[in-house]
Amino acid sequence: MPHNRRELGKTRLPLWTAGFVAFACLAILVLSGWREWESRQVDLRNAEVDMANLANSLTQHADDTFELADTILIGMVDRMEIGGTSPGAIAKVQTFLQSRKYNRKRIRGIFIYDETGRWLATTEDVDLADLNNSDRDYFQRHRASADRGTLIGRPVKSRSGGQWIITASRRFNHPDGSFAGVVLTSIDVAYFTQFYRRFDIGPNGAVSLLSADGIMLARSGDDEGAYVGRDMSTSPLFQTLHHRADAGVYYFKSPLDGLQRLSFYQLSKRYPILILATMAQNDALASWRQQAIVHMTIVAGLTISIGLIGFWLVRYLSQRQRMATALIAKEADFRLLAEQCSDVVMRIGLDERILYASPSCARVFGWDPAKLLGTPALAGINPEDRPRLEQAIDALKRGEAEEARIIYRTRHREKNSIWVETALRVTRSSMSNEIDGVVAISRDMTEQKDLQDKLAALATSDGLTGLANRRHFDERLAEEWARAKRDGTPLSLFLIDVDHFKKFNDQYGHQAGDACLRSLARILVAQVRRPADLAARYGGEEFALLLPNTDADGCVEVGERVREALRELGMLHALNPPSRLVTVSLGGATNNPTQSVAGESLVAAADRALYAAKEAGRDRLVMSGQVVAWPGAKTA
Ligand code: GH3
Ligand code: MG
Ligand code: MG
Repeated sequence: MPHNRRELGKTRLPLWTAGFVAFACLAILVLSGWREWESRQVDLRNAEVDMANLANSLTQHADDTFELADTILIGMVDRMEIGGTSPGAIAKVQTFLQSRKYNRKRIRGIFIYDETGRWLATTEDVDLADLNNSDRDYFQRHRASADRGTLIGRPVKSRSGGQWIITASRRFNHPDGSFAGVVLTSIDVAYFTQFYRRFDIGPNGAVSLLSADGIMLARSGDDEGAYVGRDMSTSPLFQTLHHRADAGVYYFKSPLDGLQRLSFYQLSKRYPILILATMAQNDALASWRQQAIVHMTIVAGLTISIGLIGFWLVRYLSQRQRMATALIAKEADFRLLAEQCSDVVMRIGLDERILYASPSCARVFGWDPAKLLGTPALAGINPEDRPRLEQAIDALKRGEAEEARIIYRTRHREKNSIWVETALRVTRSSMSNEIDGVVAISRDMTEQKDLQDKLAALATSDGLTGLANRRHFDERLAEEWARAKRDGTPLSLFLIDVDHFKKFNDQYGHQAGDACLRSLARILVAQVRRPADLAARYGGEEFALLLPNTDADGCVEVGERVREALRELGMLHALNPPSRLVTVSLGGATNNPTQSVAGESLVAAADRALYAAKEAGRDRLVMSGQVVAWPGAKTA
């Protein structure tokens, strides 16, 4: 569980990373989307400007065309009003008109009708006799109105050519001002449609020429005239035109093909006509869309890559965090183990300095673990034991062994010295698997060692007297025998038996007998002076003295000292005449170059000598082969 802000920050790292990656992806998408939207708007603006320029030019073109028609109309009205409608005048006009018919690119035809609608003259090659246009809308409007201005009529099918035409007409008067007839010019709708064909406004674009009240005059691409004459006055544009500016951008969904379009309309200032240049929004945005698809594909790829890398990173971080948490928990477990353990746990580096010491160090060695950090691990170890320990550690460091177990003495801060048992084990770096130190687990062995020593002593000593027991004596005898033989040195031994001890027991009791044996033992210990000498209880009230490197004379000397000391002690033994003191008989034997006998035969020889001493009257010393009587002793 995290305990502080830093740890909390660490645990939330994957979450932060995920948030950041998501934010970065979102930011890239939003910024790219915004940029694409901007460039879409720029393209639309450009298309609007194109449409505005086009509408402007085409309005100018339409104006010029109608102005030309108007000029002709004014001239013809003048001519008719001055010349009148007499057959002579009409003949002249007809001749004039026929002379103009080869220049009909823009103005297709010129027509003159009298006040009844009858054809008076025309540029067309038709028989005028049966033709009457009094049914035409423009004719009726001129006849009804005194207005002498130009009337642009609805498109009609030409009576002379059969094609769609747009008419521009004026009335002319008799000298009294009454209606005399109509002069009319016609412009082929095809003239406009062919002209509009020159402009590339996309497959779904169109240029329309409409009258100001919404009648379609010409539309680009409309070669059959399917749209000509259509009343568009109910369309939203015309419905709202009266409160719109003279020119402007206009977006709409076409009622004809359902496509979203952008258009620019321009009302002519001179004639009641309107140019509407429209373009499908899709066509205007085609190149933008293509680029946007490429851009957004790249951006999406980039975002997906960042997202994937982010996902991988977050997963990696979470995994590492889980591992780190597990590691921390494990470490905590091990630390708890090390710190609660009564044994001392130490980590020792390759330089043999202490890197870590567990708290029980204070209890076992008397040292504060913190103070031991960085100090040499082998300091304070008994010099006698140190080489063994150094050897073991060297072997571990060289990789010759994985573990070692050593018992040695070391200094305690307060006590002199303690016995310690240490289990050593190499540690390896988790990265390189190279040996990077040693872990030592140590426990205080002093008590066990003392107990062991006591047990060992018990195993080798006699309970009553504290002297070496028979087994220990036998072992030492074998050792000393071998050494004496190897070194060619003499070896002597005594067997000592209390005289009439059965009687002593009978007389003074068994307890007193034991006390007597202990006193004798003390004498033996006191008289055995060299470190290699050994006094042992051989069995019952028999004792043995092992005297290495002692010849027969030295042996006799020791025996005599024993007897002397016993005599001086003067323990009463009423039933041991003649001295009536506790006495012993000694049988000695010496192995020297002249007397070559085996180990047991040395005991046998001493035994024989003892027997001889008993036979000879007790309270005396007999060396194997000789009897040494105590001065003043009498044979029993
Ligand atoms: P001798 O002079 O011939 O040696 O006569 P002795 O009575 O000493 O004869 P022996 O050596 O055969 O007798 C040994 C006696 O020593 C037997 C036993 O009563 C006594 N004895 C042996 N071990 C002990 C002991 O541990 N304590 C006591 N109090 N008496 C013991
Ligand atoms: Mg005996
Ligand atoms: Mg005896």
